[in-house]
Amino acid sequence: MKPLSQTQALARLKTLKDNFKSEISQTFEHRAKSCLTCETKGACCLDAHFVNVHISPLEAVAIRQEIEALSPPLCARVETRIEAAITEYSLTADGDTYAQTFACPLFEKGIGCLVHNTAKPLACITHACYENERDLPPGQLQAEQERLVDDLNMRIYARRQPWLPLPVAIRR
Ligand code: SF4
Ligand code: SF4
Repeated sequence: MKPLSQTQALARLKTLKDNFKSEISQTFEHRAKSCLTCETKGACCLDAHFVNVHISPLEAVAIRQEIEALSPPLCARVETRIEAAITEYSLTADGDTYAQTFACPLFEKGIGCLVHNTAKPLACITHACYENERDLPPGQLQAEQERLVDDLNMRIYARRQPWLPLPVAIRR
C-alpha cells in the first residue's frame, strides 16, 4: 500500500466522511426523527449507558485539530471534559473497550456536536432515532467505511491501528 502524508490522509478522510454523510442523509435519514425538533437534544451523545463511540488514530488527529481551533475557553472546557470522562467512566485502551460507555466530551450545550461538520465519527454519522428497525442503515455500510478508514491509517502508520473509546483516543 502506497504511504500517504498525514495531510493527504486527513484530506481523504474528510472526503470519505462527507460522502458517507451525504449517502446516509439522502438515503436513510428522512425516515428518522428530526434532530432539529428533538425535545431531548444531545441525549444520544450524553447517555453514559449507551455511547461507546470508537475512533482510529487518524480520526483522533482530525478531532484534535478541531479542538485546538476552538476559542480558548471552549477548548479548555472540552479538555476538562475529556479528562473527566476518562476518570469518571474508567476508560482505557485495554480489554473489551467496546463495553466501555461514556458521556461524550465533544457535546457542548447550546452548540451540539463540536465536530458535526468537520470530523464526526462514523458511528455518529450513522446514528439517528428510527422508529422502525427496518429503516436503519444496514451495518455493512458503516463496516465498509471503517475498512476504508483502516486503510488510510495503514498508509500513514504502516500497521493496523486499534480503534479506541473516543475520549481515550483524543486525550492530549
Ligand atoms: S439522534 Fe435522536 S436523541 Fe439525538 S438529537 Fe437526534 S433525535 Fe434527538
Ligand atoms: S462525536 Fe459528536 S455526535 Fe458523536 S457522540 Fe460525540 S458529540 Fe455526539
